[in-house]
Amino acid sequence: MAAKLLLIEDNPNNSYLMRYLLEKAGYTVLEASCGARGMDLALLHKPDAVLLDIQLPEMDGYEVLSAFRRNAELADIPVIAVTSYAMTGDREKIMSSGADGYIEKPIDPETFVSSVSSHLRCPPEEGGTT
Ligand code: MN
Repeated sequence: MAAKLLLIEDNPNNSYLMRYLLEKAGYTVLEASCGARGMDLALLHKPDAVLLDIQLPEMDGYEVLSAFRRNAELADIPVIAVTSYAMTGDREKIMSSGADGYIEKPIDPETFVSSVSSHLRCPPEEGGTT
């Protein structure tokens, strides 16, 4: 079954490009434009991973990430930060906040999907009772 990914991104151009590339590669994509909506969708749909913009209105990406990590139902979902911050130390700050990966904007259509898939965990095996 195709992995289900949740995008939390407030910039429609970025969402559009990410959705386009991921759907073309066979992923199912859910979208939220703010952290609160992203939490609701994640609780409802249990995505295989979250792609999280850091610069978001209201709750920023760090707050969203920490809210995921504090929620027992969401704590294990891999979160990949997607951010245009290019300042030294941001990668470390994001990773030490509990992200599982980091992708820099602007999105590179040549490498984006493989970067995402490299951060996905294998799904649990089903069956196998023989
Ligand atoms: Mn943003």
